[in-house]
Amino acid sequence: MFDDTKMTKIDYRHEYLTVEKLMREFFQQVNFCGRFCPKVDKSIGCCACNYYYDDDRFVKGIGKRLCLERSVIYGKPKENRKKCNYHEDGVGCKLVTHRSCLCNSFICLEMKHFLRIRFGIDYDHIEVDRNLREMIRCKAELINVKLFKALITVWIMKVKQVNSRK
Ligand code: SF4
Ligand code: SF4
Repeated sequence: MFDDTKMTKIDYRHEYLTVEKLMREFFQQVNFCGRFCPKVDKSIGCCACNYYYDDDRFVKGIGKRLCLERSVIYGKPKENRKKCNYHEDGVGCKLVTHRSCLCNSFICLEMKHFLRIRFGIDYDHIEVDRNLREMIRCKAELINVKLFKALITVWIMKVKQVNSRK
């Protein structure tokens, strides 16, 4: 049978930024970090203490391009091994787009627990990271990109549904 998913040229940059937008909406709806972050007392974010900038610039595919675009839009961060330069105390991450795979996917155990208990979502950040990296490497199959977007969309709907019951 003819499989059109293998014939279609994929715009991986567009797909990555689209998935990132969906992830952002998902985390905004969950609204955990700003209320319950267990890591820091005067700020928001694991990135403020022991987690620093990861940029995918050496990932073959569109890694370098996304990294360059990020520098143009948000400025180039200085080397800082203690705290990411895109992190702002009291606000969290300043990047709205062009985050690395790790930055887009990582969440702490506390938030994972919250997603499971409150929304019934089993979030596997390694699997999310793997999907994002496949896109950056320009290796993801179209069907997998579609399934990944559908999965995040279902998560968003689940969260909205539970939140609307408040
Ligand atoms: S993922 Fe967890 S540790 Fe990181 S900012 Fe959110 S609540 Fe804090
Ligand atoms: S870019 Fe954003 S999410 Fe990534 S380490 Fe820096 S502040 Fe954290």
